[in-house]
Amino acid sequence: MTQSSDRFTQRSDRLTPSSDRLTQSSDRVPAPPSRLTVLAGPTAVGKGTVTAWVREHHPEIWISVSVTTRRRRPGEQDGVHYRYVSESEFDRLVADDELLEWAVVHRGARYGTPRRPVEEALAEGRPALLEIDLQGARQVREQMPEALFVFLAPPSWEELVRRLVGRGTEDAAERERRLQSARAELAAEPEFHATVVNRRIHDAGEELVDLMRSGASPGQ
Ligand code: 5GP
Repeated sequence: MTQSSDRFTQRSDRLTPSSDRLTQSSDRVPAPPSRLTVLAGPTAVGKGTVTAWVREHHPEIWISVSVTTRRRRPGEQDGVHYRYVSESEFDRLVADDELLEWAVVHRGARYGTPRRPVEEALAEGRPALLEIDLQGARQVREQMPEALFVFLAPPSWEELVRRLVGRGTEDAAERERRLQSARAELAAEPEFHATVVNRRIHDAGEELVDLMRSGASPGQ
C-alpha cells in the first residue's frame, strides 16, 4: 500500500462515525458516499498541477470548474480552468444559493464551487473531484461530511517556499501573504482523511486516484 493509504488508516480515528455521515447524506446524494473527493492543501503546493494531471490521464473523473472573480491569467481558458465572473455575478450566485461553498482566497478574489454540477455528477455515479482552498473544504465538510478529504502536502517547508517564489506570478507583498496563509494551512493537515505528498506530479496524481478508487470513506 502507498504511504497515503497508511496515513489514511491512521487518521480514521479523527472522523465522525460513518453511520452519522450516512444518515446526514441519505436525502441529498443517492450515489455511494465516497464518490466526492475534496483536494485541498497549502498555497503553491501544486493542487492545480496535480488536478490538471488527473484531468488529462483520468477522463472518467469529473472535475469541478470553479467560478472566480480574479482575472484570467495567460494560458487559462474560461470554462476550463475557471469560469471568470464579475463581482456582481458572484453576488448573485451567492444570493441564489448556487454555490456549494465559496471563500475569499489570499484576501483577494472570491472563488466558489457551483453546486448543481457537483450534484449532477454524483447523481450520475461519476467520481467527482473538487480542488479548493481550506476554507472551502471546511464548508463542504459541513454539507457533505461523507466526502473523502485529501490533503496535498509539500515534501518540506523549504520546497513549498521554493515553489511559491519559483512560480513568479505574485509580487513580494502577495508572496508574503501567501506564506502566512500556507503556515496556517499546513497546520490543518490532521483535519483530513488522507495525505498525499506532492514529490512528483505523476505519483501524487496516481495516489489521489487510488484513494478515490478505494471507495472507502474512513470509518466504513
Ligand atoms: P489560483 O488563483 O492560484 O488559481 O488559486 C488560488 C487558490 O484558490 C487555490 O488555493 C485554489 O485551491 C483555490 N480555489 C480554486 N477554486 C476554488 C473554489 O471553488 N473554492 C475555494 N474555496 N477555493 C478555490
